[in-house]
Amino acid sequence: MKVYNTLTRKKEEFVPIEEGKVRMYVCGPTVYNLFHIGNARTFIIFDTIRKYLEYRGFEVKFVQNFTDIDDKMIRKANDTGTTVKELGDRYIMEYYKDADALKIKRATVNPRATGYITEMITFITELISKGYAYETDGDVYFSTARFNEYGKLSGQNLDDLMSGARIEIDERKKDPMDFALWKAAKPGEPSWESPWGPGRPGWHIECSCMAYDLLGETIDIHAGGTDLVFPHHENEIAQSESRTGKTFARYWLHGAFVNVDNRKMSKSLNNFFTAREILEKYDSEVVRLFMLSGHYRTQINFTMELLDSAKASLERMYNALTRLNGFLVSAPEGTDAKTIEMIDSYKAKYIEKMDDDFNTADAISVVFELIREINTSMDETSGKGTLEYAMSVLRELGKPIGIMQNEVGGSLEREIEELIEKRQQARKEKNFKLSDSIRDELSARGIVLEDTPQGVRWSIRK
Ligand code: AMP
Ligand code: ZN
Repeated sequence: MKVYNTLTRKKEEFVPIEEGKVRMYVCGPTVYNLFHIGNARTFIIFDTIRKYLEYRGFEVKFVQNFTDIDDKMIRKANDTGTTVKELGDRYIMEYYKDADALKIKRATVNPRATGYITEMITFITELISKGYAYETDGDVYFSTARFNEYGKLSGQNLDDLMSGARIEIDERKKDPMDFALWKAAKPGEPSWESPWGPGRPGWHIECSCMAYDLLGETIDIHAGGTDLVFPHHENEIAQSESRTGKTFARYWLHGAFVNVDNRKMSKSLNNFFTAREILEKYDSEVVRLFMLSGHYRTQINFTMELLDSAKASLERMYNALTRLNGFLVSAPEGTDAKTIEMIDSYKAKYIEKMDDDFNTADAISVVFELIREINTSMDETSGKGTLEYAMSVLRELGKPIGIMQNEVGGSLEREIEELIEKRQQARKEKNFKLSDSIRDELSARGIVLEDTPQGVRWSIRK
């Protein structure tokens, strides 16, 4: 299996530290708001990667944190007259509602930053004693010049970074690129006791610390959105590797952004959508299919038209499943080795695509090719075993992506039969407007009606 590593800027063979096991850390949300569709893509991407690793037989310990203390949290709590703690409690609950609705598998652990203050103090104390950090007026800073490899993730050296960045002169720092590990308490801010006086942790130390405590000194995969490469992940590497002297994470994976109508999503442009708003109108499988229809390292453009087209694609998938399920009722016993072989060849192709840096875009195309083959080569004469195998492979390949996991058969058939009955009734009453509109509705869903002497028969269009 190959994965693209931001650290080395190339695709590498994926070899975990411990055979068969993967330790994975993903930067989670700051819990001051409902998450938006950009966050949703990042969560869905890494949920899919995790599920695919599990599909390939790895045991994955998956940690995704909640950032429940930072400037944004403090500002929002003050603006809304609540506490940072209450704000965090509320939006963690809301996170689970939306993440569950998106069929994102719960992490092995979802640590809250504020649950690790003692461990962060230990971490910072060690960095100071090793000479990597210093205290000034109750703040503690990391000394970037002390870490020789600073800049290795973002591919810049300290000089480039300094000339590129808008440096704000801060008297308390020895070097403008130094960053805060601990921030002295300001009036009205939540704070914890520490050897440097009351204060709170900086954002970067939170993730370094939780990854260390929950996954160990070296982890296999560290992931997040591309916006986190610099400075967040660069700083995490500096902190963690200075503490342990070991590699912090072997593979760094970054998910690309979602744009809306080809523009960066922002509240001021009025093109900002929460995941919840979208889930009110679209099934989670549609959202996942859309989010994964591009490779995770390429940006995707979000528009309602594209969501509608994902919806139509998903319908085609369900039509195929429903059709196979329908044949099962009267199918003869038996399996056909040639068809099984054909299905397996597509399964192998799917695995090849996913093994190549989790190329969901191509893997989804392979699923469609398989569906096309199934639609042309399988019918009511296919053996039960073959039909069941085709259905189970479609579901299996859909699982990491999060599509074709809903039940088919019963309910859809009932729904169609009810519509047909309604149409018959309308025809009897000579209400042709209604009967035609029912026929059109069914036709739009891929259902073809045929009037026979025995009554109306329906089938799914190939
Ligand atoms: P935040 O709550 O802003 O800290 O972000 C939580 C996660 O979502 C991080 O991994 C970010 O990199 C990611 N993220 C933020 N905005 C976007 C976006 N527009 N598209 C994709 N991912 C995003
Ligand atoms: Zn992080």
